This record gives sequence, C-alpha cells and structure tokens, in this order.
Amino acid sequence: MAHVDAGKTTLTERLLYYTGMTHQLGNVDDGNTVMDTDPQEEQRGITISSAAITTRWDYEGETYSITIIDTPGHVDFTAEVERSLRVLDGAIAVFCARSGVQSQSETVWHQADRYKIPRIILINKMDRQGADFARVVAEIREKLRANAIAVQLPIGAEDAFTGVIDLVQMQALVWESADGKTYVRSAIPESLRPAAEAARRRLLEELAITDERLFEQYTLDPLQVSVHQIEGALRQATLERSLVPVFCAAAYRNKGIQPLLDAVVQYLPAPEDRVVALANEGEESFAGLVFKVVTDDYTGKLCLVRVYAGTLHAGDTLWNSRTGRKVRVSRLLRVMSNKYEAVDRLEAGDIGAVLGLKETRTGDTLADPNYPVVLEAMNFPQPVIGYAIEARSTKDSARLSESLSRLLDEDPTLAVEVDVQSGQTILRGMGELHLDVVLEKLRSDYQVEVNRGQPQIAYRESFTRGVTHRATFRKQNGGSGNFAEIEFQLSPREDGQTGLEFIDAIRGGAIPREFIASVEKGFQRAMHTGVLAGYPVESMTVRLFDGTIHEKDSHALDFEQVAQIGFKAAAAAAAPILLEPVMQVEVTLPEEFTGAVAGDLTRRRGIIRAMEGKPAVQVIQAGVPLAELFGYITTLRTLTAGRASASMRLEGYQAAPEMHSKKIVNC
Ligand code: GDP
Repeated sequence: MAHVDAGKTTLTERLLYYTGMTHQLGNVDDGNTVMDTDPQEEQRGITISSAAITTRWDYEGETYSITIIDTPGHVDFTAEVERSLRVLDGAIAVFCARSGVQSQSETVWHQADRYKIPRIILINKMDRQGADFARVVAEIREKLRANAIAVQLPIGAEDAFTGVIDLVQMQALVWESADGKTYVRSAIPESLRPAAEAARRRLLEELAITDERLFEQYTLDPLQVSVHQIEGALRQATLERSLVPVFCAAAYRNKGIQPLLDAVVQYLPAPEDRVVALANEGEESFAGLVFKVVTDDYTGKLCLVRVYAGTLHAGDTLWNSRTGRKVRVSRLLRVMSNKYEAVDRLEAGDIGAVLGLKETRTGDTLADPNYPVVLEAMNFPQPVIGYAIEARSTKDSARLSESLSRLLDEDPTLAVEVDVQSGQTILRGMGELHLDVVLEKLRSDYQVEVNRGQPQIAYRESFTRGVTHRATFRKQNGGSGNFAEIEFQLSPREDGQTGLEFIDAIRGGAIPREFIASVEKGFQRAMHTGVLAGYPVESMTVRLFDGTIHEKDSHALDFEQVAQIGFKAAAAAAAPILLEPVMQVEVTLPEEFTGAVAGDLTRRRGIIRAMEGKPAVQVIQAGVPLAELFGYITTLRTLTAGRASASMRLEGYQAAPEMHSKKIVNC
C-alpha cells in the first residue's frame, strides 16, 4: 500500500521475479508488468484493480506461500483499497525516499489502522536524487504517529546507493549484478560503523521496552543480545503494532528486495496469527469473504474469496450472508495475476477465485450452511458525483443494463439510479476519474457506447430552524376509512450525527407503540427526498409529542403516511438549505507555481488550509467545493506545465452559498 507512484507495481514485479514466479523483469514505464493487466491501466500507468497473486519464498529451509495484493494509491479507487485491507493479514507500506509521506500514503495508513493491520515499511527509490532515508523515517514518525524504527540503513544514496546494512545481523548487503538476483553479505564498512551502531542501539532500546526478556539481557550486556532474540521481539512488536520496522530499497534498480521477502516471512503475520472470531463449534467449517468480483471473458464471473476458516471444495454448497440463499461452487482457481490455475480445494489463509456463484457481490460472506456465520463487512464511502448516461443506439441500450449490473457487482462504490423527475439513468461514483474509467470499461469491455451528460453533484439538504407542526391524514371510502394524526417538532440535528434522530415524547399513550414505529419509518422514508430540490436530507431531529388515533380507522400504514405528509409541510417551514460536498484537495508542486495554483484554488471558492515547503516541492492543502472542481486536473496541468499532482477526497458537506444554491434549486 502506498501513495500513487511510490513504486508498488515496480516492487511487486521484483517480488514475483525473485520468488521465481516470472522470468523477466517487467517495468511500469514499458507497460509490460504482470500486475497491471487491464489495457486501461497500462495506458494510465496506475493500478486500478487490486489483483491478487500467490507466490512462494524459501526462508531458512521452509517454503512459505505469500499472496500479494497490490492496492491502488489513487483516492478515486478507495473501495479497492478498503477491500484489499479487509482481507490482508499484513502490509508493506511503501514510501518514496524523496517525496516522503504524501497525502494518500497518509489516508491509506489510517485506513490500515482501522483494520488493525500489522505493517512493515519500505522506503523505496533510494537511488533517486534527493533520497533521504532518515528524513522520511522522521516524517513517518511525526506525521503518521507511527513508531517507525529502522532495521536497515542505506549504504549510500542516489546514484551511490549500493545496498543496505542489516542492523539485526550487523552485516552489509551489497547488490552488484544488474538483475539483482544475487547479493553479497560482508562486514559493515568502517565509515558506516558508528551510524550502524547508533541505529542498532535505538532498535534494541525500543525492543527492550516491549520485550521483558530482551530488556533484562540488554541491561546486563547489550552485546550479548542474540539475533534470535531480536527477531522474536521484533516479530512480536510488529504483530502487536507497537512498532513498525523500516527497510530500504531501490526496486527499479533491483536492490534491497530479497531481505524484504525475508522480512515478510519473519515479521508479518501468518494466517493463524490473525484468527477471526468465529463461533466455536463451527471453527472447522468453512467461512470466507468475497472481496472482489470480476467478470472474465473466458471463465465468466469470478468471485475472489479470502478463506478464514475451514476448507472449501469444488462442488460445495454455501450460504450467502446477504441474500440468505444457497449457492453452489462449480470450480476453484488459484490466482496468478491474470492467469488462473484450477485447484480442488482452498484452505484457511488462502485467497482464490470461485466460479459458479450467482447473485454474489463484493462484501458477502460465504459460509457452511450448517454454520452460517457473518464476517465483518467492509466500509465503502458514498458516491459523490454522477453523470446522466444514455445508450447511443437501441443495440447499446439492450446491453447497457446487463453491463451495468455486472459493473455494480464488481464495484461497490458505484451506484445506478433512475431520476424520478427526468427519467434519466444516473451513474454515480467516487470522482471524475472513477466514472471515466467505468465509462471506458463499458466501451472497451462491453462494447456499449453511451452519451454522458454534465457531471451531477450529490447535494444534500438540511434545516436551519425548528418548527412545530400538526398533520392529519384522513380518507373515507364507503364504510371503512383511514385516519392518523400527529404533532411533532422538526429541527436541525444538534449532535453532529447524520440521519434521523427520532425522539418519542408521547405521554399517556396518545398513540400506541406500534404506530409510533410507523411514524418513525414514515419520516425515515420522507427524508430521502428534500423539499428544496429533491436531494436527501442529511440529518434532522423529529420529536413526536402528540397525536390521535381513530379506534377503527387507524392503521400502521396511515401513520407512515401522515409522517410523510407532515414532513413535507414542516420541512418547507424549517428554512431548508442546500449542502454541497467539499473535497479536501492536496496539490504537490514545484515552488515557482505556488502563486498561480493557490490563486486558482481561491477562485474556485477554495479555502487554503495549509502550505508546506518540503525540499524542492511545495504542498498546498485546501477545502474546495466539488462543484468547482470539474476539469481541475486539466487546469492544473496547464498552470504548472504538468509538474504538479493533486489528490482529492471527500471532506464533508457544507452549506452552499445562496447564489449557487438558487441556481440548483431553480433548475
Ligand atoms: P505505483 O503507482 O506505486 O505502483 O508505482 P510504480 O511502480 O508504477 O512506479 C512509479 C514510477 O516510479 C515508475 O516510473 C517507476 O519506474 C518509478 N520507480 C519505481 N521504483 C523506483 C526506484 O526504486 N527508483 C526510481 N528511481 N524509480 C522508481
């Protein structure tokens, strides 16, 4: 995991090469990597799908199976990151030795914290001009508040980077061959000894805090602490996440990779270190999580599954947590990036592809029907932007809905809605780039041509005043009738939470309990459509304090109905306002363009939050309304001669200025 461009794909290619999975080194710049298989990815040079690939590495006479999941760094693909993190046991966080901690590396780091993932850090690109190992370690400690401790030091930097010092073994590791297949272990050069000894002392002191036995030995005689002891303490501290060991490399130059593979085996968790809580009696039975769905031209729909418990066989029948239905596994495959190998079983810890599963989506748990456990699902952010789309021809039209439904199965951050007023189909996603990629996929993978309208923003509505209202619903048709009456207060929510806060303040049983639940349901439903411009209401408080029922004519549905009627009238009186999404934008750029870029952000109603000078580059952070960000990347390219990069993520919603709001409401 990393910021885009830190070198994950390049590193992965090396990992596959040194583990013997590939026999040729791929390079991102030449568009021939194993991991980036999608033609769009090759074009864009970014890893859009997190492919999973299994390989083997020998360490101290044992062979270990390692599954690598390459997570994209681009924030428009945050769902990919989330689902990778959900099924990972451990991660290598890759940082660039020159750029250090960048916005996305920060985002991904915190996401990984949420999933409690043990990590090791690789400071890559040690060969780049301006590479500075110590500065990046300090930055990680400061910005990510991570207890990052060097277990290696670089030998030289920039063009002079030749290898690393292993602070555990106290040896120098030097790569001489171009393909980096072999390296030489030798004594640490005299000139680097003092730095190495100081760094080792820091490492031991840190480990002594977490490991009692090591502490005793260290206070007795620091020189007598054994390699075995250090490795044990380091593993424990990494698993507990009290410490993050730091390594360094230049993936592109094929230097520093093999010790990293050793470290994956030594320090990152084995599947049994990360047991998920399952019902005791069902421990031996199968449970797995679908973390990705892909549709392959040859094999059809593939569900990528992480097995948490038990064994899965071809032919098994499984229970799907979301649908509650049973599904039958037809075949099992092991994933070798874009190639698949048939297998007859998958075991706990494995990641594999399952064929034949109908109605299965990303995030579903699959389990033994006799022990239907539900594994914790994934968090996906809500889409913030949409395009109205329509098929170009009737031929396209027939294929569009089928293709969209496949894409929805694959990508949980994508949504399709039909606008009730205009009848248009709206495709929603995480950002412009995200939707562009999806439309391109429709065209190239599904041969569906669509026209798209102007980007549409997912506005919300809210209230600024509290009002009290009495609403009555009455209908008489012949003998029987319908009746419900309520009195309530509708007001802005004050606790900062979103959604409906429903307070039942009915005294003396004016409305029976079951009807109160219907009232709540009615408000819940009503708030999907605000009164200003039909956008969902972000939050509101409803205090229900009175009402009347009719002995014969009141039904649960009538109370749902009266809540919806009451909402419409009260909402109009509660001074509704339009809320717009605001993005947190971070631009990294050469210093000389700072003025132009900051000026442009301000013109876009942006508020500059921070400007920070790093060696050679400037970082500007700003909060900018999404409505003003269309085409931003193109403008930025023009302003800076293509030398800046930007990232965006949703910061939250804020009141839209009146001028802007009027335009939206009146259109
Ligand atoms: P990703 O976006 O994190 O997957 O990064 P990539 O692997 O696509 O690498 C981004 C760019 O950095 C490419 O042009 C790589 O050739 C380059 N790169 C990767 N690793 C190194 C390295 O160790 N040194 C240098 N100088 N460049 C590297």
